[in-house]
Amino acid sequence: MDRTSISRRCFIGQARDTAVVTLAAAAAAPAVAQTSGKAAARGRPMPDGVTLPSAPPRSPRPGSVGYAVVGLGDYALNQMMPRFARTERSHIAALVSGNPEKLRRVGDAYGVPADARYSYAQFDRIAADRRIDAVYIVLPSGLHADHAVSAFAAGKHVLCEKPMALTSADCERMIAAGQRANRRLMIAYRVHFEPHNIEAMALMRRRAVGNIRAVRTEQLSRTDPSSRPAENWRIDRALAGGGPLEDFGIYGLQAALYLTDEMPESITAATYQPANDPRFAQVFASVASQLRFPSGAIAQLMTSYDSSGSNIAHVRGDTGALIMDPATGYTGHRMRLEGRERRDIALGDPTVQFPRELDHFSGAIRDGSPIRTPGEMGLRDVWLMEAIYAAARTGTMVRLSPDGRMRG
Ligand code: NDP
Repeated sequence: MDRTSISRRCFIGQARDTAVVTLAAAAAAPAVAQTSGKAAARGRPMPDGVTLPSAPPRSPRPGSVGYAVVGLGDYALNQMMPRFARTERSHIAALVSGNPEKLRRVGDAYGVPADARYSYAQFDRIAADRRIDAVYIVLPSGLHADHAVSAFAAGKHVLCEKPMALTSADCERMIAAGQRANRRLMIAYRVHFEPHNIEAMALMRRRAVGNIRAVRTEQLSRTDPSSRPAENWRIDRALAGGGPLEDFGIYGLQAALYLTDEMPESITAATYQPANDPRFAQVFASVASQLRFPSGAIAQLMTSYDSSGSNIAHVRGDTGALIMDPATGYTGHRMRLEGRERRDIALGDPTVQFPRELDHFSGAIRDGSPIRTPGEMGLRDVWLMEAIYAAARTGTMVRLSPDGRMRG
């Protein structure tokens, strides 16, 4: 049984109740100064630092799952697309982009046929393209839900980047669309395929630090002072929700859950949105939250777009501590166990997380195997983020059901 299964058991039943849009969830939308209206897909320039392959990839193996990559941005081009070459049963079959010149260059480099390159306006045509088994959505977060629903309507499976969506109502819409189409849905939580984090889960399960008392996570970075919402979707409310929490604070939230292997029973929180800083006209600069678990463990989560960088997860139990710093990056993980067992833990190449994530979903599609990070997990996390914003907005402790929904 994988590490998420205990928590997952708690919410999986309710997640099927797709018609439910709780009043509490609607009320929990981040309180922000203004928004730039409805999000729309549009092409962007080639990101910095992209190295395109010098030769097209090998032919796919028999039974390999063909993916349409949707959104040729930094994460797709610099992290995920190059990692398809290290998979066993996944290949890039098609591309979707709003930038025709980038689409041509990337398509040529990755050996994607010209008739398997689509614009957003042509997205629905993927239904007739039998080379595409699954759609990998790597768009700004506010565009995930509509594209996932369209991909399901086209009969494709969906691998969707985190956060699953910006509201629980959208997550429920995505899950319902997948069920209607009888297609699989996975949220691309790569950390569940990263060796240090998997070992950390196993260590906590073996009580290597005793009974967990305190978890502290920090996911911090500084947004360039010249950034504006019109050019940077991460500070545009319609595309990014409240900002840092949905973007990378979600890693700290996830870590608190998979390290304690519990769901919180209550949350308190605070947000900070400075006046007169155009970066934070629409999103929060910082979000801090405190989660109390039934065992008595307490987690302190901090995330910010206006702080020098940090990416840590610390667990302190009654007999020891686990220090992960950096905890959830692409590579360079460091992990130290203190207490009865005392050692540095180095587990080889963390970048195996990328191909393993892809092949996990391909296996689920081909073999019908369980998905470690299903849509229900993405929904759970959005419920929790809604609770964090509600706690901050009302200044009160928000109580939670075991599935992560706000009570009452
Ligand atoms: P980028 O801004 O680098 O790229 C986003 C791409 O989406 C653009 O290049 C563009 O592609 C397309 N796009 C379509 N509509 C818009 C729009 N209105 N504004 C901006 N871009 C648009 O973002 P990232 O690649 O960093 O992030 C994409 C997704 O991946 C997000 O959901 C993010 O949360 C997730 N992510 C996940 C990570 C992880 O570790 N799992 C790490 C980083 C990001 P085109 O020009 O081809 O149309």
